[in-house]
Amino acid sequence: MSLKTALTNFNSGENPELSVLDIGHEDYLAIVNPDSAFWSLCRKDKLADTLTSKKFNESLKAKLPSFNKEMDTLRYGLLPSAVYFNPTERCNLNCQYCYIPSELRKNGVHMDKDTIIKSLAVLKDYFKSVITDGRLPSIIFHGSEPMLNKDAMFAAISMFKNDFDFGIQSNATLIDDEAAKFIIENNVGLGISIDGPDAKTGDSVRKDWNGSGYFANVIKVLEKFRDYPRFNVICTVNKENMKTLKKTVKFFHDAGVKVCMLNTLRCTQESSRSLKPDEREVAKYFIEALDYSHELYKKTGRKMVVANFANILLGILAPTARKLMCDISPCGGGRSFFAVSAKGDMFPCSEFIGLEEFNGGNIFKDKISDVLDSARFKLVSQRKIEAIDHCKTCAIRHFCGSPCPAEAYTMNGGMDKRGAFCEFYEEQTRYAFRLIADGRENDFLYDEWDEGIKEVLTDKDLK
Ligand code: SF4
Ligand code: SF4
Repeated sequence: MSLKTALTNFNSGENPELSVLDIGHEDYLAIVNPDSAFWSLCRKDKLADTLTSKKFNESLKAKLPSFNKEMDTLRYGLLPSAVYFNPTERCNLNCQYCYIPSELRKNGVHMDKDTIIKSLAVLKDYFKSVITDGRLPSIIFHGSEPMLNKDAMFAAISMFKNDFDFGIQSNATLIDDEAAKFIIENNVGLGISIDGPDAKTGDSVRKDWNGSGYFANVIKVLEKFRDYPRFNVICTVNKENMKTLKKTVKFFHDAGVKVCMLNTLRCTQESSRSLKPDEREVAKYFIEALDYSHELYKKTGRKMVVANFANILLGILAPTARKLMCDISPCGGGRSFFAVSAKGDMFPCSEFIGLEEFNGGNIFKDKISDVLDSARFKLVSQRKIEAIDHCKTCAIRHFCGSPCPAEAYTMNGGMDKRGAFCEFYEEQTRYAFRLIADGRENDFLYDEWDEGIKEVLTDKDLK
């Protein structure tokens, strides 16, 4: 046989670029086409055969245009369907890692009831032109602490309950029985923040302006929402609480929580950076906590989804099925959603509130479509992973997305820099691939996550 006919065109000419990723598994490696987010797991002893397999290369090459199109739609073709709405600038707590500047949280403004109603009317009109398939756009009342402006917020929810899918993200200090009743009766989504399994950990960073913690009050809210399906809990992972993550998972699971997030803190503000955990160390505790959530599931038959990790897993298994929009580049900020401040100013994401250079315009003065198209919004909505050093050659760039642009900008010096937790994303991605290699991925995902999802390239096509 001549040399010419013996060779396949793996990684050359017009053939798919293939990277090999060590996923930390005893038997498997991942083969990735980074641009399209295609991947395949490969036994280590079959790696050379697979990479040089004519069938593998040709099948992939034939499918690549459709994979690339899918990624392009996800990255550039989405229109906004959600708004993070801040009905107040104020907060009754002074958490050290908060991304809203403390001056705003302490002395900022409330939006009055009529102004919230006027804003929602503007948003309703806008969404009529962009969502035409009958889905309801989402409004998530967000913070600072939205419950400080409860009466105005609840009045607006009552008025627009057929026009939006509402959610509230709260520190839970002000949710009494009456508020809980309203939230449940109006089918409003609720996310609350709890940073640990006990007062010592939970209150270590989350304190009010006088230094008092609220753990004891906040955990009462868990009981009120135990059976409410639209409820989740967020734990912001930092240097102080990372070692208790496993206990936190147990605590949430015992309380009946069905969906939680174990999000590493954002380092957008200088004040939060001193709480940034070591990336390798936090990855270790995070993965231990995921393993433990699985153990609890097997023991009790009750699954608790860790939503931020489920999103990474979904991004690998079915890129367009992911629910959160941080782990994709460009991220969802300023394109699939945007934020409205208590003054009506529009920012690509709440993470940018307080950074005036990202204020794209005002909901009462400017056309929403013009704001989305503004140079200030485009800094975020057109931040591409291909322009970021390290990320542009990273095999997992479309499973990570190099979040967060706000951190990249304030902490690392520009939109063309990485965010704060590169190694943490690497480890999560490796862990996700290991679960897939061991056939355990469904145990970490929402039930029925794959409804309506079609396999387009199977093992049989590639071998
Ligand atoms: S990556 Fe940052 S800016 Fe983008 S959606 Fe997530 S929090 Fe917002
Ligand atoms: S932040 Fe790190 S893991 Fe994520 S794409 Fe960039 S280099 Fe890869």
